[in-house]
Amino acid sequence: MQTSQAFLLRKFQYSEADYIVSAFTRDFGKIRGLAKNAKKSRKRFGGRLEPFVHLRIRFSQKPGSMKFIEDAETIKVFSNIMEDIELFAWGNFVLENIDLTLPEEEPNNNIFELLVHTLSSLSKDKHLPSNILNFQVSLLSYSGYKPNFDNCAGCGKPVDEGVFSIVKGGVLCRECREDKSNGFLLSKNFLSSIGSNEMNAERAFDFIRTLYRFTEYHTGKEIKSSKFIEEIMR
Ligand SMILES: [Zn+2]
Repeated sequence: MQTSQAFLLRKFQYSEADYIVSAFTRDFGKIRGLAKNAKKSRKRFGGRLEPFVHLRIRFSQKPGSMKFIEDAETIKVFSNIMEDIELFAWGNFVLENIDLTLPEEEPNNNIFELLVHTLSSLSKDKHLPSNILNFQVSLLSYSGYKPNFDNCAGCGKPVDEGVFSIVKGGVLCRECREDKSNGFLLSKNFLSSIGSNEMNAERAFDFIRTLYRFTEYHTGKEIKSSKFIEEIMR
């Protein structure tokens, strides 16, 4: 039997009372398993298999077989996120970004810590766009998708300010920039303001949009929760 802290990423109904669960665990990374009778068992699950609940789960696996989630207990419930429609949307966006960028069964303690930190900040409703940007930049860095912010993604020379190219994966200097009307103008000043409470919300939303499109482009997957996020950012 294995034990780990975890957050639910997704669940699918498998049969009347069973769920197939995808969870991000601190010690084993992203895992998938069958939670038998999870809909009915008060003692083993008690409705705790929900997003935005910091869990401790136990699971077992026989060689060559799938994982079985045995039970789950609550460490902390981020109830503010569940009860506020906008925070709920941002929270789903955070979980989906992690789901897309993390490979199966590779532990990543930095990303686990980042998730706990981000949900805590979200639930306190602290400087939301800045908090989300901090999450995106850190996640891309920890998951190996870090954009090039320091050197031109075209010619490699150091840049303090440039247009961010999603396709090239970083900032472009004046010479390498082709379409002058397009793209987010990114500066060192802006980058260093990420995470602070003095960010301009509109600029922050613009860069959130740029970074989630960057994530979609480089993972080849669609971030479905972005549709609702776009409505909130309008
Ligand atoms: Zn260049």
